Amino acid sequence: MSRPNGREPIRIVHLFPELLNLYGDRGNVATLTNRARWRGFAVEVEAIEASAAGRPIRADIIFIGGGPDRLQVGVARALARMEGSLARAVFDGAALLAVCGGFQNLGYQFRSSLAGSLSGPGLFDVSTDAPESTQRMVGGVVARLEDGSPIAAIGRASAAAAGFAGQEQTIVGFENHGGRTTLGARVRVLAQVDRGHGNNGVDGGEGVIALPGESGLAGLRIGTYLHGPLLPRNPHLADFILASVLRPRGISGLAELSDEAEWASHAAFAGRWGAGSGDRGTPPRPSSARARGRVRPRWPRPAVRLD
Ligand code: GLN
Repeated sequence: MSRPNGREPIRIVHLFPELLNLYGDRGNVATLTNRARWRGFAVEVEAIEASAAGRPIRADIIFIGGGPDRLQVGVARALARMEGSLARAVFDGAALLAVCGGFQNLGYQFRSSLAGSLSGPGLFDVSTDAPESTQRMVGGVVARLEDGSPIAAIGRASAAAAGFAGQEQTIVGFENHGGRTTLGARVRVLAQVDRGHGNNGVDGGEGVIALPGESGLAGLRIGTYLHGPLLPRNPHLADFILASVLRPRGISGLAELSDEAEWASHAAFAGRWGAGSGDRGTPPRPSSARARGRVRPRWPRPAVRLD
């Protein structure tokens, strides 16, 4: 697909929302849409259901959410019917964000006692096993981005302006999965868990990231176990995705948004779930009067205690 200019709409494709949409995953599409529109970009959102999987994909950003193992059988079939159009879109530069079940389906293989052995397109160099006997990994996740992370860099100014400097070094969200994902050599972890289980509960990794151009695919690829939905509480990640699709249009640098509510929610979640916080961890207070006046973070209730 030839790259559109700044005036052409940003096209977001939401894959299989009727099958994969746990814990508010749809909110990720709303966040990308709003953050682009607030900056003056036109946005078009298209939902492609599994029954329409043969339709060609025209997208700048592709989102796929999470769902239970049984429904992932239908997802695997629909992906097979796409006959490579998804991979072609990412090859051409579409950014891909995949959460939990969608992340599992887009690896090479998802093996589950409920769904059997499902092959995927290998858009992420990962494989996932979900044997019946294993415990589910449930709860809040606070995961640290590596030093020098471009995702942290994109959120630094807005976090500081909102009175939450430093929060951009983490991503936060809610995980609930039985599958354990192991990474191949051609992908790196998105972040390291401070709190929570992440990809497999063993190696400390949460999610995966492949930058534009890696492995010959022009599109950014991010897979993660974080729901919540993910992007409203992680504005730096949302902007990183938007920036990756705007850069080829010749647009570098995104206008700053006023993100007090977003960073307050992030900080509240991190305070609630972060290491050593206990169940009643107190979120850092915003330092600016404006933020103090506006922000009333609502803390999620834990499904299961992690300690
Ligand atoms: N069915 C998958 C698992 O439990 C994914 C669940 C989800 O998307 N939250 O591992």
